[in-house]
Amino acid sequence: MMKIVQMTEKQLNIEALRKAGEILQRGGLVAFPTETVYGLGGNALDPEASKKIYAAKGRPSDNPLIVHIAKIEDLLAIVSEIPEKAERLKKAYWPGPLTMIFHKSDKVPYETTGGLDSVAVRFPSNRIAKALIQQAGGYLAAPSANISGRPSPTLAVHVQEDLGDRIDMIIDGGQVDIGLESTIVDFTEDSPIVLRPGYLDRSMLEQVLGEVRIDHAILSADSRVRSKAPGMRYKHYAPQADLVVVKGLEKDIPGKIRELVHEKIDAGYKTGIICTSETKGEYPEGIICSIGCRADEESIARHLYEVLRKFDNDGVEYIYSESFYTPRIGEAIMNRLLKAAGHEIIEI
Ligand code: AMP
Ligand code: MG
Repeated sequence: MMKIVQMTEKQLNIEALRKAGEILQRGGLVAFPTETVYGLGGNALDPEASKKIYAAKGRPSDNPLIVHIAKIEDLLAIVSEIPEKAERLKKAYWPGPLTMIFHKSDKVPYETTGGLDSVAVRFPSNRIAKALIQQAGGYLAAPSANISGRPSPTLAVHVQEDLGDRIDMIIDGGQVDIGLESTIVDFTEDSPIVLRPGYLDRSMLEQVLGEVRIDHAILSADSRVRSKAPGMRYKHYAPQADLVVVKGLEKDIPGKIRELVHEKIDAGYKTGIICTSETKGEYPEGIICSIGCRADEESIARHLYEVLRKFDNDGVEYIYSESFYTPRIGEAIMNRLLKAAGHEIIEI
């Protein structure tokens, strides 16, 4: 029987965390909140637990898992070296929404790294996550706790929808803070490369590292350009509806979306609109969903996946979304939104 327990970062339920730790030490799976999205945890050093994670998510087994730690010293045992620039980055941003890729040590099974000789490591800041990792023995493989290809979970109920009958326990810590997966920086080549944009944006990385390279697959509008992160190659974050993103001058976007939505509604389709609190008054028809407000870009990031799931649950067939090139995390928001849309864009 799957168990759901609730707690907050301020009020940890130590008894429940101990139980969850036992489940993990025995090779079971526990979903838990982090500051980015909910993770599906299994013992990263146990090949059988990693296999269970892939099976529960329906994830292709060549798509490696991120290993989560809760003490900075624990990094040493699972990597073969720590480059000087990685040392600086971890001092600046760990614990936090940053994943770094290193050459792995023998301790990490290939089942966890998707057969690669490198390992991705993150030290989350969420207190529930840190306590759970420690209870579990220090190393949790934890991809996002969704069925592969569905939007990542930002609430415990999303985990329950996707994995409720496939895992042993869910720790419900309420809504996550950030709502986008971690920034990934690869340190296995001569100079660091950003493989996935996130809440830590390019300028925050450059403050510490100097100029950084960005994986060309992230910047390309062509989804066939091959990324170095296996997971970035798959269609991802996709809602069931046909999602189209409208790009152009902010003032022109609502007019174009009104036109597109009107055509679909006329043809009898259930049609949704993703907009912000600043623009929601501009749409007379369609199922209108305000994702947050432009003046607070973090609110847009936090609600993106929730909005995509809501449209799925409502059986919406077409979704038109405004674009959100906000100043700091706009790059990460648009990376996820364009992937969800399969790069279907209308430029005006
Ligand atoms: P998720 O766990 O769902 O947040 O996805 C993890 C992401 O990290 C995927 O895109 C993986 O392909 C990527 N990743 C994990 N480990 C590695 C690695 N060793 N080398 C390159 N990418 C990795
Ligand atoms: Mg994922």
